[in-house]
Amino acid sequence: MNGFKKFDDYRIKFVVSLFVILFFLIPSVSTAATKADLAKFQRSIVDYRRQLNPRFKKIRRAKTSYIIVHTSELGLNSTLRVISKGKRLPSGRRTRGGHTHYVIARDGRTYRMLDRRYQADHAGRSMWNGETNISKISIGIELVGNHYNPITRDQYRSIGLLIDILQGVYKLSDRAVLTHSQVAYGYPNRWFKKNHRGRKRCAKNFIRSKAGLGPTWAYDPDVRARRLSADPQLADVFYGRQKLRAKADEANIISKSNTAWSIAGEDYDQRITVYKFPNGRLYTGDQISDKIGWNRIPANTIVLLNQETAIEVKRDKGPIKTIPVGRSAWSLAGKAYNRKTTIYFLPSGRIKHGSTISNWADLPVRTKIIIGYRGPFKIKKDRSAYHIAGVKFRDRKTIYYLPTQKLLAGNNIKNFSKLPRGTLIFLPIS
Ligand SMILES: [Zn+2]
Repeated sequence: MNGFKKFDDYRIKFVVSLFVILFFLIPSVSTAATKADLAKFQRSIVDYRRQLNPRFKKIRRAKTSYIIVHTSELGLNSTLRVISKGKRLPSGRRTRGGHTHYVIARDGRTYRMLDRRYQADHAGRSMWNGETNISKISIGIELVGNHYNPITRDQYRSIGLLIDILQGVYKLSDRAVLTHSQVAYGYPNRWFKKNHRGRKRCAKNFIRSKAGLGPTWAYDPDVRARRLSADPQLADVFYGRQKLRAKADEANIISKSNTAWSIAGEDYDQRITVYKFPNGRLYTGDQISDKIGWNRIPANTIVLLNQETAIEVKRDKGPIKTIPVGRSAWSLAGKAYNRKTTIYFLPSGRIKHGSTISNWADLPVRTKIIIGYRGPFKIKKDRSAYHIAGVKFRDRKTIYYLPTQKLLAGNNIKNFSKLPRGTLIFLPIS
């Protein structure tokens, strides 16, 4: 009996010590990236520095106090172009590029845009803890995507590793990592009498814990010191109970609490901001005050940011939409971008259902989209348009895809008997 008891004792001791070891081991293994992970990530960074606008003036940064996270509000290709080459301002002037140090694509691929020694022109009018011009003392990281749709898991992984590396180089704590929307401020406008937060909404959907970051500022130091007034929505996101985060993917839709200002920030009245009303009408930001009035924008209006080609969108009235330069499928189809009923016609002639689109940022320019459709149904010798679409075969909502890769609405087809064999028909769901 004794012998058995001793054996049991050893077994218990062994199991207990195993648990103790695991208890200390597991957190360090699962949260911290290994040296090998970091080295592998560092090697994977794509060097994009050669694309930098030669007119950009390189100035060395004297100190590095912060890492600022942005969302680019553009697809990948236009993000890379605008950040390296510069952007057109409403005044018509062009900036000189160098607008961030790193860009992280939706699939996590990371690009080095500017050597981290230099100042990037990324934060604009900004203040944190009494210090202004945050670009001079910080590193900028741009996540491809909008502040109102979720950041991908791959992006969180990459930014976590990148921040780890930069924190090591510059000896920065987790509190040094802030979003652009936290540090930007604006001059008085129709919503604020004083200098205020909220000029930018950039990266307000950034969930720190998903990037492996610990606790941070529980308050805004410049609001507390009365240097700035708070933006109520951002204050709730960053220092409140964070209930707004769950709604992040609906946050480009106007409601009582979600105004043009809280969605577009300083771009609310600009031409590049497009308002899509529930009745389908489109207005650019510079038309609202004359044609509608800022307090009369109907609820459920969708606000689209950075619409460089706003006029093209305005002309695109029928069900067939075209992706213009610098736009993503998200900006045309919204949350429907990856549904089976959203159908993409690529310039290569390929047809794809939304459910097979993995990266909305990378669709080629001139891709056409129809939203809310089923099909294709093929026209054959014994199966005419009428057989497939019924009485609605001439309808503007019945879409024909010709073997010549031409897309036509039913009301634009003159002679149905001349439709080539192999023409495909797509029918609206409702
Ligand atoms: Zn930003």
